Amino acid sequence: MRQLGRQAGSALTQTRTVPAPDDLRLELIEVPAGADVALEVRFEAVSEGVLATGTAIAPLAGECARCLTPLTSSVTAGFQELYLYAEDRHDKHDKHDRYDRYDKHDEQDEQDAGELYHLDGDLLDLEPAFRDAVVLALPMSPLCQEDCPGLCAECGAPLADAGPGHQHDAAVDPRWAALKQLGEQGDDNQQDRRARAIDLQEG
Ligand SMILES: [Zn+2]
Ligand SMILES: [Zn+2]
Repeated sequence: MRQLGRQAGSALTQTRTVPAPDDLRLELIEVPAGADVALEVRFEAVSEGVLATGTAIAPLAGECARCLTPLTSSVTAGFQELYLYAEDRHDKHDKHDRYDRYDKHDEQDEQDAGELYHLDGDLLDLEPAFRDAVVLALPMSPLCQEDCPGLCAECGAPLADAGPGHQHDAAVDPRWAALKQLGEQGDDNQQDRRARAIDLQEG
């Protein structure tokens, strides 16, 4: 940040590879923690702080929402955040302490400022902005391929692997098969109950 200076309008672009933070995930997909994330960030000095405009390319790992096959891919997310110079914040805090009880108006300002990020010395914490952007860009229903046919309803095999000829000899309609299974379970339960009743009598 020192390279940038505070001359409004001066700008600096940095590219670097950073390890992905933890917990960048949705139900079916995640950015593996520690994976290489490519960052390109342009820092621009503006009157009240530094405006950071970044692009992140992060690797993804997860499973297909239709066939549950493991998949890898990547996501590109853009983010922008204004980082205020720290003095602005400290001024406000001092004032706030002194007039805490009396100056309602200032309190409102403080709440507004709470939404903003601050420069901590010369360091920018890009992670919150980066994290929000990446999580928003994660796919809710990742697919191994755009037209993934999903799983065979009968045997659970991925239809993409099994091929278009995949079928079963339709001996039993699956609905009847389910009923048949229920019936068998019912028998088992009855036998269990009878066995328990006998145990009770003997005990
Ligand atoms: Zn799939
Ligand atoms: Zn099948």
